[in-house]
Amino acid sequence: MVYKIFILTDKIEFVPDKDLEGELNFNFRATGYVFNKTLEYSFYRENLVKEFAIGNNCKVDRKYTQEIIKTLKKTKPFLKKAESTCIEASTDRLIKAYSGYYAGRTGRPKFKSLKKNPVRSITLRNNNYTTKDGIKSSIRWEGNKLRLNKLGYIKVKYKRDIDGKIKEATILKENGKWFVCITYELEKIPKADFLENNLYVGIDVGLTDFLTFSNGKVIQKPDLTKINERIRYYQQKLSRQKEGGSNWKKTLKKLHKWQNKKNNTVKDYYHKISYNIIKHCQFIAMETLNIRGMIKSHLSRSIHEIGWGKLIEMIRYKAQWYGRQFVQINQWFPSSKKCNVCGEINHGLGREEREWECPHCHSTLQRDVNAAKNILDEGLRATGSMVLCLVDFIPNNQRKTTYYYEWKCFDEKIGMA
Ligand SMILES: [Zn+2]
Repeated sequence: MVYKIFILTDKIEFVPDKDLEGELNFNFRATGYVFNKTLEYSFYRENLVKEFAIGNNCKVDRKYTQEIIKTLKKTKPFLKKAESTCIEASTDRLIKAYSGYYAGRTGRPKFKSLKKNPVRSITLRNNNYTTKDGIKSSIRWEGNKLRLNKLGYIKVKYKRDIDGKIKEATILKENGKWFVCITYELEKIPKADFLENNLYVGIDVGLTDFLTFSNGKVIQKPDLTKINERIRYYQQKLSRQKEGGSNWKKTLKKLHKWQNKKNNTVKDYYHKISYNIIKHCQFIAMETLNIRGMIKSHLSRSIHEIGWGKLIEMIRYKAQWYGRQFVQINQWFPSSKKCNVCGEINHGLGREEREWECPHCHSTLQRDVNAAKNILDEGLRATGSMVLCLVDFIPNNQRKTTYYYEWKCFDEKIGMA
């Protein structure tokens, strides 16, 4: 039997008492402070090298950040009261941001604003330590309570049974509620509840049609019009009220309620979609999304709202879980511009053209379906499954009907028939 290691995260709500809440807020501020200071020093050092040719141009790495943390702790004694693992986790995020910057993938890291959009999460790492009763983990369950390093015990609303090895815990405040996200490693035989089948798909994501499958199937994004209306209504109401007043607080609570509802609706919908995709498809190919680039373009709000990243993550781990194959192809692959029939690349294809005619072979192509087919081909090529594809993917009429039936059930299940 092949065991696989799954990295999973469980998000659990909890209600902290006043003391714990104060302590968590203190840790939020402390991590934000260290993050900003580290960044400030890095800028300073960079400048010295650039402007005055003093010192060496060295990279922001673990050794450097640890040196800074050590110095900061000496000069700012309040930091000693903070959780050390969460401070380290936040500087590690800075290192990661820097490595993206060095590689040219992302822009220069930015300061975290302490007032406008303060840090609202900390990550605690699990360490083992020896006591006279044996080895203990700093993050562990004791009955219904979760013990978190120095912070002590927190009582969660619903305890989940986590039998894996806990790696870290992230505490976050979201729309007025507190959550702890426990990341753990689980070694397991993949579930094999689903029969192996021959449905190989490529999926194109877009703003007009949310998901387009290479077999022509389209799934729309969740309908959030009503919820968005309520959110906008309370946001406007809030802006007219006096900040901090009792009416303002009431409105804020309502706003949070609707924002939570939105998050949950989207999450629920994504779970259903991803589950069904995995249930029906043996092989799934998608593009690696250049979300940064997309956000820079004009449609940023709706992109934030959609949160494709979450959906892709769900498809990825469910594929692993159920023994399906999931592959993401290079984001620079010209999936939209390539004709799937003859391979010609149409450089003149406009952004808005939903249907186009190939200048070479004169096939009429549906933009998204064509892209999805290209993504599938590229995914198969990248994984070396092309031969399989030729045998399995040629759609004959009989197969089409079974697929149609399956997709119909799928639609009914997620309420889109
Ligand atoms: Zn063509």
